[in-house]
Amino acid sequence: MSNVYGTLVTADPFESSTKQVNDACDVLGIKDKGMREYLAMPNRLLRVKIPVKLDNGNIRIFTGFRSQHNNDRGPYKGGIRYFDPEGGVKYMEREVMALSSWMTWKCAIVDVPFGGGKGGIFLNPKKEKLSDGELERITRRYAFMISEVIGPEKDIPAPDVYTTGREMTQIMDTFNKLNGNRSQPGVITGKPISMGGSLARNVATGLGVAYCVREASKVLKLKLKGAQVVLQGFGNAATFAGVYLEKMGAKVIGASDSKGSILNPKGMKTQNLIAHKEKKGSVVGFPGSKKVSTEQLLTAKCDVLVPAALENQINAKIARNLKCKIIGEAANGPTLPEADPIIYKKKIMVIPDILANSGGVCISYLEWVQNNMGYYWTFNEVAKKMEDNIVRGFKDTYERSKKYKIDMRRAAMVLAVERVVEAFNHKGIWP
Ligand code: NAD
Repeated sequence: MSNVYGTLVTADPFESSTKQVNDACDVLGIKDKGMREYLAMPNRLLRVKIPVKLDNGNIRIFTGFRSQHNNDRGPYKGGIRYFDPEGGVKYMEREVMALSSWMTWKCAIVDVPFGGGKGGIFLNPKKEKLSDGELERITRRYAFMISEVIGPEKDIPAPDVYTTGREMTQIMDTFNKLNGNRSQPGVITGKPISMGGSLARNVATGLGVAYCVREASKVLKLKLKGAQVVLQGFGNAATFAGVYLEKMGAKVIGASDSKGSILNPKGMKTQNLIAHKEKKGSVVGFPGSKKVSTEQLLTAKCDVLVPAALENQINAKIARNLKCKIIGEAANGPTLPEADPIIYKKKIMVIPDILANSGGVCISYLEWVQNNMGYYWTFNEVAKKMEDNIVRGFKDTYERSKKYKIDMRRAAMVLAVERVVEAFNHKGIWP
């Protein structure tokens, strides 16, 4: 089973995350079963009942979770989503456990001092006809139920699937009211700017992808000037990846959205594509471009392919036909496990999702720092600091991939596990 929002390609997402931990332990020579279990299992999984009075006067009970995976390197960090995966509440429980684990590794790769957390409510706001008032009561009640385990020094949630700055503000406000009406904006990130959010958040993922692609091109001795870029899924992540890669000298020759895919080997200005999509609702029909199939887009001759739409886009067949040199995974889980060995053999460099789309968590960290010191940086200051984290994450991952002769995806996990184990070894087990 899979869902469209996460890196979930097996029936049990927590089995997937556990397997990845074990694979990294194999590479690092960590044989102790207890240590492996320590690394795989969440520290705490909280399941809460959320009773809410609906507008019609009836009471309805929702179920929520918060999984806190590991805090050896710092407070737990990770999103809160409102979602109803196919497998029901039980599946969601396994999902938040896995997603909290991936947050631990993501933070460690870019060396931000956080551990991993994830949570959410079993609820699909798009399907359910809930009023704004009902949604707010659900959100605030959930915040109340998890308030004892979150806090700026404990666990810092962020927006995720179907949640935005609005819900984050409601959670922050509830938490602050429960804590003597103190102002603690650092309890949550992804807030609107006027609530203590950080500049550069909206561009973070795309900009992070662009930084990673730039570093990959240096390693491969590929000139970014004139490099041809294909963007699958022309939304937030892809447009900003396009904007910044273009600033670095590359040109966008392909793009797609849910309505179709287009190619123009001569190049298309990202700003013009944005304007066209705004006007027509799709990139399709962009002047001078040719409409192609998804497969033709993904396997087009180019230097950089940025999958930024959905998971499971690159299967074995597509992998065999790829003609790019770099894949910058903006989306979560765009590449199926069956495709990885084929891509590695073809010497195409994959910048795995856990590294490539970590711009958001880097900015979350910087938002938290700004909140805690009560002093706010400019856009350029934030972008520069994020660049430092991501570039270091890329270089450290690449170094592991060479050292252990493994692909970048496995190398990123090895780096992450190595960093968490190092922190664990400093602290040991208490008592
Ligand atoms: P978005 O909603 O802004 O954009 C998604 C785009 O994909 C839209 O243009 C949509 O039309 C297109 N799309 C949908 N189905 C498609 C299909 N079958 N083929 C081609 N295009 C299709 O979303 P986003 O925020 O840019 O996120 C994109 C991906 O990046 C997701 O996998 C998300 O989980 C991941 N991601 C995003 C962020 C972020 O901060 N934006 C952070 C981490 C990961």
